[in-house]
Amino acid sequence: MQGGYTKGLHELGRGCWAWLQPDGGWGWSNAGLVTDGECSLLVDTLYDLNMTATMLGAMRDASDAARHIDILVNSHADADHTYGNKLVGDARIIASSATAAEFMKLTPEKHQEMIDNAESLGEGAKYIASWAKASGFDFRGYGLVLPTETYEREMTLKVGDKDVRLINVGPAHTPGDTLIHSVQDKVVYTGDILFINVHPAVWEGSIDGWLAACDLIMDLDVDVVVPGHGPLTDKKGVGIFKTYMENLRREARKRFEAGMGVEEAAADIELAPPFDSWLLPERMAGSVNFLYRQWGSPDAKTDFLEIFGMMARYAKRHAACLAGHHPSGCRHTH
Ligand SMILES: [Zn+2]
Repeated sequence: MQGGYTKGLHELGRGCWAWLQPDGGWGWSNAGLVTDGECSLLVDTLYDLNMTATMLGAMRDASDAARHIDILVNSHADADHTYGNKLVGDARIIASSATAAEFMKLTPEKHQEMIDNAESLGEGAKYIASWAKASGFDFRGYGLVLPTETYEREMTLKVGDKDVRLINVGPAHTPGDTLIHSVQDKVVYTGDILFINVHPAVWEGSIDGWLAACDLIMDLDVDVVVPGHGPLTDKKGVGIFKTYMENLRREARKRFEAGMGVEEAAADIELAPPFDSWLLPERMAGSVNFLYRQWGSPDAKTDFLEIFGMMARYAKRHAACLAGHHPSGCRHTH
């Protein structure tokens, strides 16, 4: 739909756009623009200032209303949806109160420091630094711009004559994820409630909340669904993602009950098509770790870099597998 998964601005009609960034992996998030007349609402900024500036330029070229962004809604506080806020610093910036409370958990300065010192910080930090450097992300020299307004569960904004509903579906992917529903346009921007063709990052929030959020999207009167990562989709994509989450939880639970450790379980899980071709399978190590933590396993980690260490080991093992050097105990045949 809407002409394929290419980098840049995609017009959805009705004064709405999506900014897509293939391949949807680490740091490559989507954003959105809703306009009516002279009014504009931006859904999320991007991972760094350069990327955000490029996006804002394309939006200004596409729509006069985007010459000045009136409202920014941050769907959640993760870096790849907020670090560019500074470039729309004079807009009303709205987030759920649970999201606003998370903004300072990893500042750009701390993030950059972690990348610069990755060698001494271990496997998890080295993994983060490897994709940050390969993608050219740079967080030096700019501060985070925080929300100026918060809401609790639901809020309706006016963008020109349009109603835009903000629905806090957290805890789900994070403690306070916001769905941005442009009601008359029948478009919903989901933030990281949806990952399409890429494994989700699951390390906080609630799986039950996440599944309920999928059901809520299914009940909305929408025909375009803009995920946080991956190509544009519709309710079919929401259903596929929900099946992924249910399968992953079921497969992890079986292995938890069989007494497997976190990393052993993650390595052992083989998901059926189409999930076996989704990007970043190493994220399953983080997801299984999250589930094990919920289930009270002493093997589950809480430290952010240790969790990334698990993903790094999964990625290494998976790469060896794909190269035909199956590590001992590997069941993959590819
Ligand atoms: Zn994201």
